[in-house]
Amino acid sequence: MKKIAFRTLGCRLNQYETDALASRFHTGSYQIVDFDEKADIYVVNTCTVTNQSDQKSRQTISQARRANEDGLVVVTGCMANNHKESLLESKNINYLVDNERKSSIFSIVESHFRGEAADPEGFDKDLFSYEAAYKTFHTRSMIKIQDGCDNFCTFCIIPKVRGRATSRPQAEIIRNIREVIDYGFKEVVLTGVNIGRYQDGDTNFEQLIESILNLPGDFRLRISSIEPDGFSERFFELFAHPKLTPHLHLCLQSGSEPILLKMRRMYTAKQFRHMAEKLRSLYPDFNLTTDIIVGFPGETEADFMQTKKMAEELAFSHIHTFKYSVRSGTRAERMDDQLTEKLKNQRSAIIRKISEENKRAYIRQMIGKPQCMLIERIGADGIARGYGENYIPAFESQRFKPEYLC
Ligand code: SF4
Repeated sequence: MKKIAFRTLGCRLNQYETDALASRFHTGSYQIVDFDEKADIYVVNTCTVTNQSDQKSRQTISQARRANEDGLVVVTGCMANNHKESLLESKNINYLVDNERKSSIFSIVESHFRGEAADPEGFDKDLFSYEAAYKTFHTRSMIKIQDGCDNFCTFCIIPKVRGRATSRPQAEIIRNIREVIDYGFKEVVLTGVNIGRYQDGDTNFEQLIESILNLPGDFRLRISSIEPDGFSERFFELFAHPKLTPHLHLCLQSGSEPILLKMRRMYTAKQFRHMAEKLRSLYPDFNLTTDIIVGFPGETEADFMQTKKMAEELAFSHIHTFKYSVRSGTRAERMDDQLTEKLKNQRSAIIRKISEENKRAYIRQMIGKPQCMLIERIGADGIARGYGENYIPAFESQRFKPEYLC
């Protein structure tokens, strides 16, 4: 039985794809081992959203090669698309597989061990032909509903590495979700690149959500990161459904109207504020989290003050704070007024501090309120830990035996 190890960098979409690949290899009688263990095959599912992501991806590839100099190192993911030429030169990599052919990695590895020439470019491009994952690295089941993006925000490399927006057929999504519910998963997380823009024939994002919420079974549905555009007011009403978790990661990026225009975002700060306040007026304990980029080219002190004001006033319980990172091939790369790292660090520290304060305030607000906790792990102390439907960390002091999780 060959040993295979996986390492995933980046987003839940990558996590979904790795989980599905791991399940396929497990079905194929490969033994899944930890990435730190010596394995016959290493699959690195990379990310390229920032310079740091590239760096981490390169370090992970080197780590795999060091772990087994004779091992088979397969590299895929967004960095494989973004830095193809340089990675093809790398002696650390046996197979470089782009995102469109990632679902063929099992066949590529099987061909390799049959001694056949397995040129990844010879395999079909298919964004969605992944099997339902039962052998996963997560307690939740990620479900891919969409890939690619047509928005072309000026700072973003994703359309270049994930291609144009493509929606997965609704029937396939429903089948996939039924399968993972049958496997025993209690929480399903919808993922993609720009999921709010989902469209399969006449079925849009809201209608897809409704069809999932109407499925029988003891499960709850979570929407992962979403762009604040493409959905209607109906979307907000859906959160009244007991199966839809009252938490949304709604990407703001900036609170300044001029900067949002320069980023080519599809909404205004005013519209974003309306969405957040609407959710809170309908569901007072609704959990809103977000992404914010500080230090975008041309961001003045006044622009930053607008972002700081929205971060405080909209009380996001968590803010993923990114320092603007130049991505080669994006429009923002050619913009004037690139800011210094020093200024980016200062502004990033301010937003992170607000995020910490907001998180404490939100957790205080939720103390004493019932939460249905999805147990993720039981510590040696017997305490079960996990997350409630509002996506806040929770624990159950009743002593559990670790095997209770199985
Ligand atoms: S909507 Fe998101 S994925 Fe699409 S270009 Fe903008 S930031 Fe990138």
